Amino acid sequence: MDNSYIPYITYTSYLKKKYGKPAYRVGVDGGFTCPNRNRDGSGGCAYCDETGAVAAYQRQGESSIAGTPFSGSSAVIPKSCSYSRLSSLDERKDSVRKQILHARRFLEKRYRSEVFLLYFQAFSSTFSPLRELEEIYTDALKVMDFRELIVSTRPDCISPSNARLLASYKNQVDDVWVELGLQTASDITLSRISRGHTAAQFTDAFKLLRDQGIKLSVHLILGLPGEGYADIARTAEFLARLHPEAVKLHNLHLPIRTRLFDEYQLGEFTIPSAERHLSYAVHVLERIPDDIIIQRLVTDTPGHRLAAPKKFMAKRDFIDTLSKNMINVNTWQGKFSKEAASEPQ
Ligand code: SF4
Repeated sequence: MDNSYIPYITYTSYLKKKYGKPAYRVGVDGGFTCPNRNRDGSGGCAYCDETGAVAAYQRQGESSIAGTPFSGSSAVIPKSCSYSRLSSLDERKDSVRKQILHARRFLEKRYRSEVFLLYFQAFSSTFSPLRELEEIYTDALKVMDFRELIVSTRPDCISPSNARLLASYKNQVDDVWVELGLQTASDITLSRISRGHTAAQFTDAFKLLRDQGIKLSVHLILGLPGEGYADIARTAEFLARLHPEAVKLHNLHLPIRTRLFDEYQLGEFTIPSAERHLSYAVHVLERIPDDIIIQRLVTDTPGHRLAAPKKFMAKRDFIDTLSKNMINVNTWQGKFSKEAASEPQ
């Protein structure tokens, strides 16, 4: 086994193999909102602090925050983007164009990038009438040469018509991806964290997209309240049966002003340490097929927003430690997956 061996499929290696050079995500906020929140911003998932997610280079109010371009970091919506929640369709399209050009300047200067992937990252990026979705996606894809269209959304924001619309862009880009939040396959936990959908509803949305030839990345949170190894194994096995093309693993992290943080302060549950999260992540990796791309292993939350855990291993250290630990105990992605279990060469 050579020194560069990593016991799971990294996103970076997948992109490099596919495009022959590094590829970078251009994360944009299309001015979408979230159906799981009330109009006044209240409600929503118990761990969500009303901000959605925007790439590091789009955070004008957080210029000190660094991140890899395809890190998918959680972040505060910059002031320049937050108005888009209220603006007209033309203003939203204009805002997306400006965000793309801003991101391109950043990525070309910092990484000399040549391959770009368009990523609708913030909030539920299919939560608009079909005509608006078509205008926003089509307009954004014209700004520059993108190789992929990636859209992040919720299962209850997928319909046959918007799945067909998304699939229609396969004529313009190499791949269309949807990132779909599951978090856990337990309906009890989904209800506990107010996700607003069940595991069965997730499966229905997943199948609608798959039937249209759209690639899928599923988001999970490990260590949710009341969950341990057995629940995490059940979620991993649920995921293995669906067999998405990619997965993003998140450690439980609570921003300030969230319902779960209030419950945590009352002592209702504990938050996994870096060591516990690492062990949970290995538990998932061992149980999913060995061809699923691992797009993320830990959550990025800017320090000033993060309420708990306050102490967590740096992302690079976490990734290195995870690999070393897996190699030391002779385990690998897919080791216990019923779909794929071959010892790596
Ligand atoms: S679906 Fe996303 S944006 Fe909506 S409440 Fe949940 S975490 Fe927040």
